[in-house]
Amino acid sequence: MKTLKLTTNKQDIEAAAKIIRNGGLVAFPTETVYGLGANALDADAVARVYEAKGRPSDNPMIVHISRASDIGQLTPMLSPDIVTLIDNFWPGPLTMVVKKKPTVPDRTTGGLDTVAVRLPESQAAIDLINAACCPIAAPSANLSGSPSPTRAQDVVDDLDGRIDAIIQGDDCRVGIESTVVDMTGEVPTILRPGIITAEALEAALGKEVVYDKSLEEAARHVALDPALGVSESDFQPKSPGMKYKHYAPKADMLIVEGERENVKKEIERLKGLNEKLGNTVGVILFEEKAFIEAAHDFFARLRDLDKEGVDLILAGALSDTDGVGFAVMNRMLKSAGYKIARV
Ligand code: AMP
Ligand code: MG
Repeated sequence: MKTLKLTTNKQDIEAAAKIIRNGGLVAFPTETVYGLGANALDADAVARVYEAKGRPSDNPMIVHISRASDIGQLTPMLSPDIVTLIDNFWPGPLTMVVKKKPTVPDRTTGGLDTVAVRLPESQAAIDLINAACCPIAAPSANLSGSPSPTRAQDVVDDLDGRIDAIIQGDDCRVGIESTVVDMTGEVPTILRPGIITAEALEAALGKEVVYDKSLEEAARHVALDPALGVSESDFQPKSPGMKYKHYAPKADMLIVEGERENVKKEIERLKGLNEKLGNTVGVILFEEKAFIEAAHDFFARLRDLDKEGVDLILAGALSDTDGVGFAVMNRMLKSAGYKIARV
């Protein structure tokens, strides 16, 4: 398949929208990462997204809308809390899981009776959804399992020849995927951390917001630590996407965690040892507390190091228990397959 390369100008957006209306696939920029879009209400189109990405079919997609009022097409129930979050965080990098209407195909939601909805802030995304005149289901525009794409070239690298078109816009401002919060229960529950933090959600709602248990365990690095006797089968996330191998670079990857000076020393030591043995080593060590920058750069760094062809990536852990650094660590841990050296 020949993949059309489009810009964000009006004519190209119109062409992309037409492809979506006809059941095709278009990758487009959002403020978080690039998305791979299809008409969310067309089960066949959505099936093509799974195929192009190699994505497991029980991993549901986020449905993107361009006006808050369009959420009514997707869900029958807007609680006061949902309305508060819409008012405070949309457009923006917040996805809400809500009860779904029957018009949303099971394909889109991986068979769940809930649907994840987001109103992105990126102008190109808004223009595309508006022009398509339908909600757009869009997971990240990468091959399943690889680091998320934050630059147009990343999408070309993964999906050229597999999808109908790519809108080549700017690099993504945020760099990690949206915060996903489940609004279907009594207590809002974060299923995937992002740059909109639990603290920010609590401030807007005036009530407690919790993390999904599996996420907490993974984040505290205990889920797969044999020393603690917790097995992989105890680790069953509510958000289907969280259980798969994710964000993995081609290189081997190890996280080094501990007091900053020790981390730096250990990374240098491991780098030296590996290089002596003929391995090429890439290092990811962000400035202390520069969490926003880390979010922006992390996936791009993984992809750049893979292009350089390094054998091993050594990454310094970010110390942040529930903010933006925590959201980046959630990705870093998965990228490394939870391999951590503590110093
Ligand atoms: P991605 O499309 O790669 O950004 O991933 C979307 C994330 O949202 C995945 O982790 C999905 O499992 C999660 N998600 C989407 N829809 C739902 C839903 N209805 N309930 C729970 N999680 C969802
Ligand atoms: Mg993804």
